[in-house]
Amino acid sequence: MIPFLDLQKINIRHEQAFKNELDELLKKGWFILGEKLTEFERLFARYCGVKHCIGVANGLDALILILEAYKELGVMKIGDEVIVPANTYIASILAISKAGLKPVLVEPRLDDYLIDSSKIEERITDRTVAILPVHLYGQVCDMTAINTIALKHNLKVIEDSAQSHGAYYQGKRCGNLGDASGFSFYPGKNLGALGDGGAITTNDDELAEVLIAYRNYGSQEKYKCKFKGINSRLDELQAAFLTIKLKYLDEDNEKRRSIAEIYTKSITNPTINLPLIHNVNGHAWHLFVIRSQRRDELQKFLFKEGVQTVIHYPIPPHLQGAYNDFGYKKGYFPITEEISDTCLSLPIWPEIPEDDLMYVKEAINLF
Ligand SMILES: *Cc1c(COP(=O)(O)O)cnc(C)c1O
Repeated sequence: MIPFLDLQKINIRHEQAFKNELDELLKKGWFILGEKLTEFERLFARYCGVKHCIGVANGLDALILILEAYKELGVMKIGDEVIVPANTYIASILAISKAGLKPVLVEPRLDDYLIDSSKIEERITDRTVAILPVHLYGQVCDMTAINTIALKHNLKVIEDSAQSHGAYYQGKRCGNLGDASGFSFYPGKNLGALGDGGAITTNDDELAEVLIAYRNYGSQEKYKCKFKGINSRLDELQAAFLTIKLKYLDEDNEKRRSIAEIYTKSITNPTINLPLIHNVNGHAWHLFVIRSQRRDELQKFLFKEGVQTVIHYPIPPHLQGAYNDFGYKKGYFPITEEISDTCLSLPIWPEIPEDDLMYVKEAINLF
């Protein structure tokens, strides 16, 4: 079976470096908020081209904390509205709800799966405070249009970069294309830890100051609590592992890109829709998502042929039980529903053997 993702192969490359870090940490005996985190934050901020990086416990917390920090600064308040793509991974939307704000869903485009910037303005009200674009599957959203709308209506732009580490747009990396950005280092992401992890990037000094306290019980000084914060920290061991892996991120994304190019050139089955790519080099290729009107049959066929695929995502957020209270029904977001009924993600991890790749595209063309 060709696995959808092989985290063993991806991580075993760094076995010795990881073990050295663990040894060092055991000898030192300092596990939380130490120099390994500071070093990773410095390197990841530099990588993204921003002033600040704040390590947190996971990607969901990264987004929640940005919104909480804006509430502390008086920029947002409970009940305010945040515009978010309707077809994102549920965490983008949960973050808005968890911060006491209201997610306002906007349809994506069918061809690139990204929020349709031409449909944002019609959803802006007096309560709208932010747009939360998601660089879904690794491709950066239409940020020129989004930032123009935000400027016109005085909104914050909060990037969800959980799937797009290293992706870039007009010479800037994601994480540096809005007011603040949330990253996830969940093991399966382009930059993945050996456990949970996340980070926030921003150029806003005031926001960064609140966030540094907020992730640590709201304390700027030990045993002094300035904000009603939480405990959401990126630990020393994960930070050290991430520093090792960050060195290989560009190289890994390059490998993902060449796999995407092979798929794009060699999948010739006329029943398959390939994704629209705006800039092949700027895309981080977290996922390679095709569409088929016979998606379930295709997935079964590929499985029988020995190729594992995954659906991202089978149930759109507006039809999830968690959002029953919004009263959404099937048919409310037809493009989102069309994507979730037809999409299929092919294996695209950096260490996938070349032969496996050829096998995948041949199986798809055979269908
Ligand atoms: C993974 C992911 C998150 C959440 O990250 P976690 O670290 O799993 O909490 C948020 N948004 C998107 C788009 C994601 O893919």
